[in-house]
Parts: sequence; structure tokens; C-alpha cells
Amino acid sequence: MSLQLSQTLYDQLRAHGEETYPQECCGIMLGKAAEGGSLTVHRLVRAGNTRTDSAHNRYHIAPIELVKAQREGRAAGLDIVGFYHSHPDHPAQWSSTDFAEAHWFGCAYVITAIAKGHAEITNSFLLSGSGEDDKAFTLQTVTLAGE
Ligand SMILES: [Zn+2]
Repeated sequence: MSLQLSQTLYDQLRAHGEETYPQECCGIMLGKAAEGGSLTVHRLVRAGNTRTDSAHNRYHIAPIELVKAQREGRAAGLDIVGFYHSHPDHPAQWSSTDFAEAHWFGCAYVITAIAKGHAEITNSFLLSGSGEDDKAFTLQTVTLAGE
């Protein structure tokens, strides 16, 4: 049940959070889900942080961006396998808001802690369950593969 991505994508994902610091960054991960639950990321789609009320500790991906990413993925034979965002000066742990707003079961939610503008820990949480009653985040292994 690991999340696999190339070193290049991993670096890009983390760099995005450094660029938007002290605001949060967010984006969509396109890839493939294998039997058994492992996810492989093939492409990242950056999303604008549309939340203007408190962009430093909340993120939101606009529905139109989600649809666009889904369409881009479909054209390339890829699905949405997860989402990523950054936590400026906060640990790479999901917040209650992150949990409340997570609805894509079987998808990975990646969080990178950005401390004083530098990417530190990156964690991935798999959203398991089938509905609001039994959903859960499980820390999953991030595997860096070659190109
Ligand atoms: Zn968060």
C-alpha cells in the first residue's frame, strides 16, 4: 500500500511548497492504482490555492481544477491517485480540516512540512474506508523510484 513516485516528481512536489511559502501550496497527483492498493504517481498538476480567508493553514482545490486534472489524466490514461499540499511552519500531520475535507477513498494525501521556507518531512496518508462513518487516514510508505 505504498505511494511510488520518481525522485524528480518528489522534488517538484516539495519545491512547490517552498515557492508558495508562507502560503500553502496544493496540487493533484495523476497516476495509476495497482491491485493491492499501491499508487504510482506519473504526473503532478499544480492547483491555485483558492482559499483567500486563511491560505496559510487551509487549502482548497477548485472543482474546475479538479475536472481539468481529471480530463488531462484521462487523455493520458491516468487517474487521480491523490492530492498534495504543504504545511508552512507546521508538522507534516493532517489537521482536522484536512480529514474533514478528504473524500477520495483509496487516494493518497501528501503533506510536506515547510519550515522557514525549506521543505522538511513529507508524509503520505492513505484515505481508507467507504464513507464518512468509517474513513481513516493511514500513514503510508513513500517509495522513490527511478525515472
Ligand atoms: Zn493540511
